[in-house]
Amino acid sequence: MANRMQISDEVVVQIETMNKWYGAFHVLRDVNLTVNRGERIVIAGPSGSGKSTLIRCINRLEEHQSGKIIVDGTELTSDLKNIDKVRSEVGMVFQHFNLFPHLTILENCTLAPIWVRKVPKKEAEETAMHFLEKVKIPEQAHKYPGMLSGGQQQRVAIARSLCMRPRIMLFDEPTSALDPEMIKEVLDTMIELAEEGMTMLCVTHEMGFAQAVANRVIFMADGQIIEQNNPVDFFNNPQSERTKQFLSQIL
Ligand code: ADP
Ligand code: MG
Repeated sequence: MANRMQISDEVVVQIETMNKWYGAFHVLRDVNLTVNRGERIVIAGPSGSGKSTLIRCINRLEEHQSGKIIVDGTELTSDLKNIDKVRSEVGMVFQHFNLFPHLTILENCTLAPIWVRKVPKKEAEETAMHFLEKVKIPEQAHKYPGMLSGGQQQRVAIARSLCMRPRIMLFDEPTSALDPEMIKEVLDTMIELAEEGMTMLCVTHEMGFAQAVANRVIFMADGQIIEQNNPVDFFNNPQSERTKQFLSQIL
């Protein structure tokens, strides 16, 4: 698949010598990362290595303390006035779907477009139905999240992000909380997105997905990017001892 999809020269996310601390704990160390439009990057690494923190810094759910993060030309700084603009360009899907339980599926999908993007209600609903069809659950539009299976809720979460027309989608272990039979339906949705050219940064332990979809796999440990490579070389010819040890545990 990797060869069929176009990666452009256009940079969507640029991270330069970025460091972050939680109090005295140095959680991200000199991270450098450039994501071009159309790239599908999988971030792997042991629990606690800083994967979630890294992707949460990209839509500023977390603040970094030094270095630079530039999203679609806007540098993320503490006096950032257009944080809503940056957030609407960066879609985020979490392990726990984080849907609003008291809103219907359709309302979950139209809330941010109406209130943040100022899209007229009717247009927001049409867009929402388009993406609910895309993730193959238009018939659930008027139900509440609690009435759906985990896999369906996660597909709603993906559709809800797409309704904001993001430039990049961040996924943080989107299948980790799902029962095994529901993992495939969510991965299939992600594969379709990748095939359509969406720029994606995915933290996942699904190494089959990484092999099928990623153009680049990044391995993190102890807050650092230890190595990165195309999936064939990453899995067949890992360079560092940490990566070899990690792969031997999960493959
Ligand atoms: P991963 O996603 O790779 O499992 P995380 O980014 O969640 O790693 O966490 C990296 C490290 O930072 C862990 O040691 C974790 O305990 C710590 N950490 C995460 N969030 C916080 C927080 N809000 N405050 C303090 N420490 C945190
Ligand atoms: Mg995590």
